[in-house]
Amino acid sequence: MRVGILAIGTELLMGQTVNTNASYLSRELSEMGISVFYHYTVGDNPGRIQLHLNALLEQCDTVFTTGGLGPTLDDITKEVVANTLGLNVILDQHSLERIKERFGLFNKIMPESNIRQAYFPEGAVILDNDCGTAPACIITVKDTDKNIVVLPGPPKEMKHIFEKYIRSFLLEKNQQAMYSKYLSIYDLGESSVEDALMDLVINQTNPTIATYAGDGKVLLRITSSGLVKEMNEIAVEDMVAIVKSRIGSHVISENGDDIDKVILRKLIEKSLKIAFVESCTGGLLSYSLIKNPGSSDVIDSALVTYSNESKMREVGVRSETLQTYGAVSHQTCHEMVAGLAAKTGVDFAVSVTGVAGPTGGTREKPVGLVYIGIYDGGEILTFENHFTGDRETIQRRTVLKALKLLYDRLGSETN
Ligand code: AMP
Ligand code: MG
Repeated sequence: MRVGILAIGTELLMGQTVNTNASYLSRELSEMGISVFYHYTVGDNPGRIQLHLNALLEQCDTVFTTGGLGPTLDDITKEVVANTLGLNVILDQHSLERIKERFGLFNKIMPESNIRQAYFPEGAVILDNDCGTAPACIITVKDTDKNIVVLPGPPKEMKHIFEKYIRSFLLEKNQQAMYSKYLSIYDLGESSVEDALMDLVINQTNPTIATYAGDGKVLLRITSSGLVKEMNEIAVEDMVAIVKSRIGSHVISENGDDIDKVILRKLIEKSLKIAFVESCTGGLLSYSLIKNPGSSDVIDSALVTYSNESKMREVGVRSETLQTYGAVSHQTCHEMVAGLAAKTGVDFAVSVTGVAGPTGGTREKPVGLVYIGIYDGGEILTFENHFTGDRETIQRRTVLKALKLLYDRLGSETN
Protein backbone atom coordinates (compact mmCIF):
# COMPACT_ATOMS: atom_id res chain seq x y z
CA MET A 1 0.00 0.00 0.00
CA ARG A 2 1.30 3.43 -0.94
CA VAL A 3 0.46 6.27 1.39
CA GLY A 4 0.76 10.06 1.18
CA ILE A 5 0.37 12.42 4.11
CA LEU A 6 -0.98 15.93 3.64
CA ALA A 7 -0.50 18.11 6.72
CA ILE A 8 -2.76 21.15 6.59
CA GLY A 9 -2.27 24.34 8.59
CA THR A 10 -0.62 27.69 7.99
CA GLU A 11 0.95 27.47 11.46
CA LEU A 12 3.04 24.53 10.19
CA LEU A 13 4.45 26.57 7.31
CA MET A 14 5.17 29.51 9.60
CA GLY A 15 7.23 27.31 11.89
CA GLN A 16 4.95 27.85 14.87
CA THR A 17 3.90 24.20 15.07
CA VAL A 18 6.19 21.27 14.37
CA ASN A 19 4.62 18.69 12.08
CA THR A 20 4.73 15.83 14.56
CA ASN A 21 1.61 14.28 13.02
CA ALA A 22 3.50 13.33 9.88
CA SER A 23 6.36 11.72 11.80
CA TYR A 24 3.94 9.86 14.08
CA LEU A 25 1.90 8.52 11.18
CA SER A 26 4.99 7.58 9.19
CA ARG A 27 6.46 5.67 12.09
CA GLU A 28 3.26 3.79 12.79
CA LEU A 29 2.63 3.03 9.13
CA SER A 30 6.11 1.84 8.33
CA GLU A 31 6.02 -0.47 11.33
CA MET A 32 2.87 -1.95 9.80
CA GLY A 33 4.66 -2.57 6.51
CA ILE A 34 3.00 0.30 4.73
CA SER A 35 5.15 2.50 2.51
CA VAL A 36 4.85 6.25 2.99
CA PHE A 37 5.76 7.88 -0.32
CA TYR A 38 5.08 11.54 0.34
CA HIS A 39 4.84 14.19 3.07
CA TYR A 40 3.24 17.39 1.88
CA THR A 41 2.49 20.41 4.01
CA VAL A 42 0.12 23.17 2.89
CA GLY A 43 -1.44 26.21 4.53
CA ASP A 44 -5.16 26.76 5.02
CA ASN A 45 -5.64 27.57 1.35
CA PRO A 46 -8.33 25.74 -0.65
CA GLY A 47 -6.54 25.89 -4.01
CA ARG A 48 -3.28 24.52 -2.71
CA ILE A 49 -4.94 21.87 -0.55
CA GLN A 50 -6.85 20.65 -3.60
CA LEU A 51 -3.76 20.68 -5.80
CA HIS A 52 -1.82 18.47 -3.42
CA LEU A 53 -4.75 16.25 -2.61
CA ASN A 54 -5.12 15.49 -6.31
CA ALA A 55 -1.41 14.84 -6.71
CA LEU A 56 -1.41 12.42 -3.78
CA LEU A 57 -4.56 10.67 -4.95
CA GLU A 58 -2.90 10.03 -8.27
CA GLN A 59 0.18 8.43 -6.70
CA CYS A 60 -1.15 6.72 -3.59
CA ASP A 61 -3.74 4.20 -2.42
CA THR A 62 -4.46 6.01 0.82
CA VAL A 63 -4.08 9.70 1.56
CA PHE A 64 -4.03 10.99 5.13
CA THR A 65 -4.89 14.58 5.89
CA THR A 66 -4.34 16.09 9.31
CA GLY A 67 -5.58 19.46 10.50
CA GLY A 68 -8.20 21.89 9.33
CA LEU A 69 -11.12 20.28 11.18
CA GLY A 70 -11.57 23.07 13.72
CA PRO A 71 -14.65 25.31 14.04
CA THR A 72 -13.07 28.43 12.58
CA LEU A 73 -13.41 29.66 9.02
CA ASP A 74 -9.84 28.77 8.10
CA ASP A 75 -10.54 25.09 8.86
CA ILE A 76 -11.69 23.86 5.46
CA THR A 77 -10.31 20.36 4.98
CA LYS A 78 -13.63 18.51 4.67
CA GLU A 79 -15.09 21.13 2.30
CA VAL A 80 -12.02 20.93 0.05
CA VAL A 81 -12.03 17.12 0.09
CA ALA A 82 -15.72 17.15 -0.87
CA ASN A 83 -15.05 19.67 -3.66
CA THR A 84 -12.11 17.69 -4.97
CA LEU A 85 -14.21 14.54 -5.22
CA GLY A 86 -17.36 16.31 -6.44
CA LEU A 87 -19.32 15.48 -3.29
CA ASN A 88 -21.77 17.52 -1.21
CA VAL A 89 -21.22 18.10 2.49
CA ILE A 90 -24.06 17.00 4.68
CA LEU A 91 -24.89 17.39 8.36
CA ASP A 92 -24.38 14.32 10.53
CA GLN A 93 -26.95 14.55 13.33
CA HIS A 94 -25.13 12.02 15.53
CA SER A 95 -21.91 14.08 15.44
CA LEU A 96 -23.83 17.29 16.15
CA GLU A 97 -25.38 15.72 19.26
CA ARG A 98 -21.99 14.51 20.44
CA ILE A 99 -20.41 17.92 20.01
CA LYS A 100 -23.26 19.54 21.94
CA GLU A 101 -22.90 16.92 24.68
CA ARG A 102 -19.20 17.60 24.89
CA PHE A 103 -19.84 21.29 25.50
CA GLY A 104 -22.48 20.30 28.06
CA LEU A 105 -19.85 18.28 29.95
CA PHE A 106 -17.97 21.52 30.53
CA ASN A 107 -21.20 23.42 31.34
CA LYS A 108 -21.03 25.37 28.14
CA ILE A 109 -23.38 25.93 25.26
CA MET A 110 -22.06 25.00 21.83
CA PRO A 111 -21.19 28.09 19.80
CA GLU A 112 -22.85 28.30 16.38
CA SER A 113 -19.47 27.98 14.66
CA ASN A 114 -18.96 24.42 15.95
CA ILE A 115 -21.85 23.17 13.81
CA ARG A 116 -19.34 23.10 10.94
CA GLN A 117 -17.55 20.23 12.64
CA ALA A 118 -20.62 18.02 12.15
CA TYR A 119 -20.66 18.39 8.35
CA PHE A 120 -18.99 15.68 6.23
CA PRO A 121 -18.60 14.78 2.58
CA GLU A 122 -21.51 12.51 1.64
CA GLY A 123 -20.77 8.81 2.05
CA ALA A 124 -17.97 9.39 4.56
CA VAL A 125 -17.53 6.88 7.36
CA ILE A 126 -17.55 9.09 10.43
CA LEU A 127 -15.25 8.35 13.36
CA ASP A 128 -16.18 9.72 16.79
CA ASN A 129 -13.54 11.77 18.56
CA ASP A 130 -13.53 11.06 22.31
CA CYS A 131 -10.73 13.55 22.95
CA GLY A 132 -12.05 16.65 21.20
CA THR A 133 -14.89 18.13 19.20
CA ALA A 134 -13.64 17.37 15.68
CA PRO A 135 -14.78 13.94 14.44
CA ALA A 136 -12.63 12.31 11.76
CA CYS A 137 -13.76 10.41 8.69
CA ILE A 138 -12.74 8.00 5.94
CA ILE A 139 -13.91 8.65 2.40
CA THR A 140 -13.66 6.11 -0.41
CA VAL A 141 -13.01 7.63 -3.79
CA LYS A 142 -15.83 6.63 -6.15
CA ASP A 143 -15.15 3.66 -8.45
CA THR A 144 -11.74 3.00 -6.89
CA ASP A 145 -10.44 1.40 -3.71
CA LYS A 146 -8.55 4.54 -2.81
CA ASN A 147 -9.28 6.28 0.49
CA ILE A 148 -8.84 9.64 2.08
CA VAL A 149 -8.45 9.46 5.83
CA VAL A 150 -9.28 12.85 7.34
CA LEU A 151 -7.77 13.32 10.82
CA PRO A 152 -7.84 16.22 13.28
CA GLY A 153 -4.75 18.38 13.84
CA PRO A 154 -4.20 18.21 17.61
CA PRO A 155 -1.73 15.33 18.04
CA LYS A 156 -3.55 13.83 21.01
CA GLU A 157 -6.83 13.61 19.06
CA MET A 158 -5.10 12.40 15.91
CA LYS A 159 -3.33 9.58 17.79
CA HIS A 160 -6.52 8.59 19.59
CA ILE A 161 -8.40 8.21 16.32
CA PHE A 162 -5.50 6.41 14.68
CA GLU A 163 -5.31 3.89 17.52
CA LYS A 164 -9.06 3.41 17.86
CA TYR A 165 -10.07 3.12 14.21
CA ILE A 166 -7.37 3.56 11.61
CA ARG A 167 -4.95 0.82 12.58
CA SER A 168 -7.57 -1.92 12.20
CA PHE A 169 -8.88 -0.32 9.00
CA LEU A 170 -5.38 -0.42 7.51
CA LEU A 171 -4.65 -3.96 8.68
CA GLU A 172 -7.72 -5.13 6.85
CA LYS A 173 -6.80 -3.20 3.74
CA ASN A 174 -3.13 -4.11 3.77
CA GLN A 175 -2.45 -7.83 4.01
CA GLN A 176 1.29 -7.40 3.59
CA ALA A 177 3.40 -8.37 6.60
CA MET A 178 6.75 -6.77 7.34
CA TYR A 179 9.68 -7.48 9.62
CA SER A 180 12.59 -5.16 10.37
CA LYS A 181 15.78 -5.20 12.38
CA TYR A 182 17.86 -2.17 13.24
CA LEU A 183 21.58 -2.79 13.68
CA SER A 184 23.50 -0.16 15.67
CA ILE A 185 27.01 0.16 14.26
CA TYR A 186 29.80 1.98 16.09
CA ASP A 187 33.41 2.87 15.41
CA LEU A 188 32.88 2.62 11.65
CA GLY A 189 31.81 5.54 9.44
CA GLU A 190 28.81 5.44 7.14
CA SER A 191 30.93 5.26 4.00
CA SER A 192 32.96 2.37 5.42
CA VAL A 193 29.73 0.58 6.27
CA GLU A 194 28.49 1.10 2.74
CA ASP A 195 31.81 -0.03 1.29
CA ALA A 196 31.67 -3.23 3.31
CA LEU A 197 28.08 -3.89 2.26
CA MET A 198 28.17 -2.36 -1.24
CA ASP A 199 27.07 -5.47 -3.12
CA LEU A 200 24.22 -6.09 -0.69
CA VAL A 201 23.02 -2.50 -0.98
CA ILE A 202 23.23 -2.46 -4.78
CA ASN A 203 21.48 -5.80 -5.25
CA GLN A 204 18.85 -5.32 -2.59
CA THR A 205 15.30 -6.31 -3.41
CA ASN A 206 13.78 -8.06 -0.43
CA PRO A 207 15.01 -7.59 2.26
CA THR A 208 15.85 -3.94 1.70
CA ILE A 209 18.79 -2.28 3.44
CA ALA A 210 19.12 1.38 4.38
CA THR A 211 21.68 3.27 6.46
CA TYR A 212 21.12 6.34 8.62
CA ALA A 213 24.08 8.09 10.23
CA GLY A 214 24.10 10.40 13.22
CA ASP A 215 25.61 10.92 16.69
CA GLY A 216 28.56 8.66 15.96
CA LYS A 217 26.33 5.74 15.13
CA VAL A 218 25.30 4.19 11.84
CA LEU A 219 21.88 2.60 12.00
CA LEU A 220 21.34 -0.14 9.45
CA ARG A 221 17.71 -1.01 8.81
CA ILE A 222 17.01 -4.40 7.25
CA THR A 223 13.39 -4.91 6.25
CA SER A 224 11.59 -7.75 4.57
CA SER A 225 8.01 -7.47 3.42
CA GLY A 226 5.89 -10.16 1.93
CA LEU A 227 2.88 -12.24 2.67
CA VAL A 228 4.22 -14.65 5.27
CA LYS A 229 5.49 -13.35 8.59
CA GLU A 230 7.89 -16.25 9.20
CA MET A 231 9.46 -15.90 5.75
CA ASN A 232 10.15 -12.22 6.44
CA GLU A 233 11.85 -13.08 9.71
CA ILE A 234 14.04 -15.72 8.06
CA ALA A 235 15.01 -13.36 5.23
CA VAL A 236 15.98 -10.61 7.69
CA GLU A 237 17.89 -12.94 10.02
CA ASP A 238 19.83 -14.36 7.04
CA MET A 239 20.79 -10.82 6.00
CA VAL A 240 21.77 -9.92 9.58
CA ALA A 241 24.08 -12.95 9.61
CA ILE A 242 25.73 -11.84 6.35
CA VAL A 243 26.21 -8.29 7.64
CA LYS A 244 27.65 -9.55 10.92
CA SER A 245 30.04 -11.88 9.09
CA ARG A 246 31.54 -8.73 7.54
CA ILE A 247 31.34 -6.03 10.22
CA GLY A 248 30.12 -7.97 13.24
CA SER A 249 32.62 -6.46 15.67
CA HIS A 250 31.02 -3.06 15.07
CA VAL A 251 27.43 -4.20 15.52
CA ILE A 252 26.52 -3.56 19.14
CA SER A 253 22.76 -3.96 19.02
CA GLU A 254 20.11 -5.48 16.81
CA ASN A 255 17.28 -3.33 18.07
CA GLY A 256 18.71 0.10 17.32
CA ASP A 257 19.82 0.90 20.87
CA ASP A 258 22.63 3.37 21.50
CA ILE A 259 25.90 2.06 22.88
CA ASP A 260 25.54 3.78 26.27
CA LYS A 261 22.26 1.96 26.90
CA VAL A 262 23.74 -1.37 25.84
CA ILE A 263 26.74 -0.91 28.14
CA LEU A 264 24.57 0.06 31.05
CA ARG A 265 22.38 -2.99 30.52
CA LYS A 266 25.43 -5.26 30.43
CA LEU A 267 26.87 -3.73 33.62
CA ILE A 268 23.53 -4.15 35.40
CA GLU A 269 23.13 -7.75 34.17
CA LYS A 270 26.60 -8.65 35.36
CA SER A 271 26.29 -6.63 38.61
CA LEU A 272 29.51 -4.75 37.89
CA LYS A 273 30.59 -1.44 39.40
CA ILE A 274 32.35 1.14 37.31
CA ALA A 275 34.17 4.44 37.89
CA PHE A 276 35.53 7.15 35.60
CA VAL A 277 38.38 9.62 35.79
CA GLU A 278 38.36 12.13 32.96
CA SER A 279 40.58 14.98 31.95
CA CYS A 280 39.92 16.34 28.46
CA THR A 281 36.30 15.12 28.27
CA GLY A 282 35.38 16.91 31.51
CA GLY A 283 32.71 14.42 32.58
CA LEU A 284 31.10 13.81 29.19
CA LEU A 285 32.02 10.13 29.22
CA SER A 286 30.54 9.42 32.62
CA TYR A 287 27.50 11.54 31.78
CA SER A 288 26.84 9.44 28.69
CA LEU A 289 25.98 6.60 31.08
CA ILE A 290 24.64 8.69 33.97
CA LYS A 291 22.03 10.30 31.71
CA ASN A 292 20.26 6.93 31.57
CA PRO A 293 17.96 5.71 34.34
CA GLY A 294 19.39 2.79 36.27
CA SER A 295 22.95 4.11 36.22
CA SER A 296 22.99 4.47 40.01
CA ASP A 297 23.09 0.67 40.28
CA VAL A 298 26.46 0.44 38.56
CA ILE A 299 28.29 3.76 38.70
CA ASP A 300 30.50 4.20 41.72
CA SER A 301 32.05 7.58 40.97
CA ALA A 302 33.06 9.96 38.23
CA LEU A 303 35.99 12.31 38.74
CA VAL A 304 37.21 15.12 36.55
CA THR A 305 40.92 15.60 37.18
CA TYR A 306 41.85 18.44 34.91
CA SER A 307 45.01 19.81 36.46
CA ASN A 308 48.21 17.89 37.13
CA GLU A 309 47.69 18.54 40.84
CA SER A 310 44.28 16.93 40.83
CA LYS A 311 45.61 13.92 38.93
CA MET A 312 48.14 13.44 41.74
CA ARG A 313 45.77 14.32 44.58
CA GLU A 314 42.67 12.41 43.48
CA VAL A 315 44.05 9.30 41.80
CA GLY A 316 47.69 9.19 42.87
CA VAL A 317 49.47 9.90 39.58
CA ARG A 318 53.15 10.33 40.45
CA SER A 319 54.83 13.67 39.98
CA GLU A 320 57.78 11.98 38.19
CA THR A 321 55.39 10.38 35.71
CA LEU A 322 53.87 13.74 34.86
CA GLN A 323 57.31 15.35 34.57
CA THR A 324 58.87 12.58 32.51
CA TYR A 325 56.02 11.64 30.19
CA GLY A 326 53.53 14.50 30.48
CA ALA A 327 49.84 14.54 31.38
CA VAL A 328 48.91 13.19 27.95
CA SER A 329 50.71 9.86 27.86
CA HIS A 330 50.22 6.13 28.19
CA GLN A 331 51.92 6.29 31.57
CA THR A 332 49.69 9.00 33.07
CA CYS A 333 46.59 7.40 31.62
CA HIS A 334 47.67 4.08 33.16
CA GLU A 335 48.31 5.58 36.58
CA MET A 336 45.00 7.46 36.50
CA VAL A 337 42.97 4.32 35.95
CA ALA A 338 45.11 2.23 38.30
CA GLY A 339 44.79 4.85 41.06
CA LEU A 340 41.04 5.13 40.56
CA ALA A 341 40.53 1.37 40.67
CA ALA A 342 42.63 1.08 43.83
CA LYS A 343 40.79 3.96 45.50
CA THR A 344 37.28 2.76 44.65
CA GLY A 345 37.59 -1.03 44.44
CA VAL A 346 35.36 -1.13 41.34
CA ASP A 347 35.26 -3.95 38.77
CA PHE A 348 35.77 -1.59 35.81
CA ALA A 349 37.41 1.82 35.57
CA VAL A 350 38.05 4.13 32.65
CA SER A 351 40.50 7.03 32.35
CA VAL A 352 40.81 9.68 29.68
CA THR A 353 43.59 12.19 29.09
CA GLY A 354 44.23 14.07 25.87
CA VAL A 355 44.64 17.31 23.94
CA ALA A 356 41.20 18.55 22.87
CA GLY A 357 42.57 21.80 21.43
CA PRO A 358 42.35 24.14 19.72
CA THR A 359 45.52 25.23 21.58
CA GLY A 360 47.94 23.19 23.63
CA GLY A 361 49.12 20.88 20.86
CA THR A 362 52.82 20.30 20.13
CA ARG A 363 54.69 18.36 17.45
CA GLU A 364 55.00 15.35 19.72
CA LYS A 365 51.55 15.76 21.25
CA PRO A 366 49.27 17.26 18.64
CA VAL A 367 45.67 18.31 19.13
CA GLY A 368 43.53 15.17 18.96
CA LEU A 369 45.99 12.91 20.75
CA VAL A 370 43.95 11.13 23.41
CA TYR A 371 44.74 8.18 25.68
CA ILE A 372 42.01 5.99 27.03
CA GLY A 373 42.70 3.54 29.84
CA ILE A 374 40.56 0.61 30.86
CA TYR A 375 40.88 -1.26 34.14
CA ASP A 376 39.16 -4.62 33.92
CA GLY A 377 39.33 -6.76 37.04
CA GLY A 378 43.06 -6.32 37.59
CA GLU A 379 44.18 -5.94 34.01
CA ILE A 380 44.97 -2.48 32.63
CA LEU A 381 45.09 -1.52 28.97
CA THR A 382 45.78 1.94 27.55
CA PHE A 383 44.94 2.98 24.01
CA GLU A 384 46.46 5.79 21.98
CA ASN A 385 44.06 7.61 19.65
CA HIS A 386 44.42 10.40 17.10
CA PHE A 387 41.14 12.23 16.55
CA THR A 388 40.47 15.08 14.18
CA GLY A 389 38.01 17.96 14.40
CA ASP A 390 37.32 20.90 16.67
CA ARG A 391 37.38 20.70 20.46
CA GLU A 392 33.81 19.47 20.77
CA THR A 393 34.23 16.87 18.02
CA ILE A 394 37.40 15.50 19.59
CA GLN A 395 35.64 15.24 22.94
CA ARG A 396 32.65 13.50 21.37
CA ARG A 397 34.84 11.07 19.41
CA THR A 398 36.77 10.30 22.57
CA VAL A 399 33.58 9.43 24.40
CA LEU A 400 32.39 7.17 21.57
CA LYS A 401 35.75 5.40 21.36
CA ALA A 402 35.90 4.89 25.12
CA LEU A 403 32.38 3.46 25.08
CA LYS A 404 33.29 1.09 22.27
CA LEU A 405 36.42 -0.09 24.12
CA LEU A 406 34.35 -0.60 27.22
CA TYR A 407 31.73 -2.48 25.25
CA ASP A 408 34.38 -4.77 23.77
CA ARG A 409 35.76 -5.56 27.20
CA LEU A 410 32.30 -6.32 28.54
CA GLY A 411 31.76 -9.03 25.95
CA SER A 412 30.28 -8.43 22.59
CA GLU A 413 27.31 -10.75 22.38
CA THR A 414 24.58 -8.61 20.81
CA ASN A 415 21.03 -8.52 22.05
P1 AMP B 1 -6.66 22.33 13.31
O1 AMP B 1 -7.32 21.00 13.22
O2 AMP B 1 -6.09 22.77 11.99
O3 AMP B 1 -7.54 23.37 13.92
O4 AMP B 1 -5.39 22.18 14.25
C1 AMP B 1 -5.50 22.33 15.63
C2 AMP B 1 -4.15 22.32 16.29
O5 AMP B 1 -3.51 21.09 16.04
C3 AMP B 1 -3.15 23.35 15.77
O6 AMP B 1 -3.22 24.56 16.40
C4 AMP B 1 -1.84 22.70 16.05
O7 AMP B 1 -1.42 23.01 17.36
C5 AMP B 1 -2.11 21.24 15.99
N1 AMP B 1 -1.64 20.68 14.73
C6 AMP B 1 -2.21 20.81 13.52
N2 AMP B 1 -1.53 20.14 12.57
C7 AMP B 1 -0.50 19.55 13.22
C8 AMP B 1 0.57 18.70 12.80
N3 AMP B 1 0.70 18.32 11.52
N4 AMP B 1 1.47 18.30 13.72
C9 AMP B 1 1.33 18.68 15.00
N5 AMP B 1 0.35 19.47 15.46
C10 AMP B 1 -0.57 19.90 14.59
MG1 MG C 1 -5.96 24.80 11.38
